[in-house]
Amino acid sequence: MIIRTSKKCQNGGIRMAIIGVLALQGAFLEHCHCLKSLGHQVQEVRRIEDLAHISGLILPGGESTAMSNLLQSSGLLEKIKDKIENGLPVLATCAGLILLAKRLQADSLKTFEILDITVKRNAYGRQSASFVSSAQISSLSSSLIPLVFIRAPIILEVAPHIEVLHRHEGNIVAVQDKNIIALSFHPELTKDLTFHRLFLERVSLKS
Ligand code: GLN
Repeated sequence: MIIRTSKKCQNGGIRMAIIGVLALQGAFLEHCHCLKSLGHQVQEVRRIEDLAHISGLILPGGESTAMSNLLQSSGLLEKIKDKIENGLPVLATCAGLILLAKRLQADSLKTFEILDITVKRNAYGRQSASFVSSAQISSLSSSLIPLVFIRAPIILEVAPHIEVLHRHEGNIVAVQDKNIIALSFHPELTKDLTFHRLFLERVSLKS
């Protein structure tokens, strides 16, 4: 399937929406800046009440163990799961991707168990093995897209209905499934807003 961001989207000019950014831990502020630079209102999500008016949700990178614990203790885990299963558009990056996975390799972390993929955490090793790459993803953009991998996971298996958007050296690192876009890397740490625009286009189609 070919996905293109619309003209309206490339201008960042799609209808303004309130977008939730899970703000329990990790790199959430950078996502907030990206959304604001595209003209959207941001709701940092820390409590169940914060979910009330959002039209989309970003699950940021960070430490998935800490986020999982906080999601469970705040009661957000079940509420967010319910909203995503009912079609709320989601952009998940790195730890966010881990939290969506139905299966983790050799790991008992509690996740939302929504996305039918198997994920290996810290697949490239320790923090010092983090790296920056770039890729031409012709279904999304004619420019090279920078890819920042920080203690990144890889996707080992995907169910047949999941669309693979990108592989890095053979490893699956970007997928989409209905209302979900999930990435192993961190677009919010670059100036390239291709994935945020793609996500916001989903939001505007839904609302
Ligand atoms: N390795 C981290 C984890 O398993 C994710 C890293 C990231 O989000 N940059 O939680």
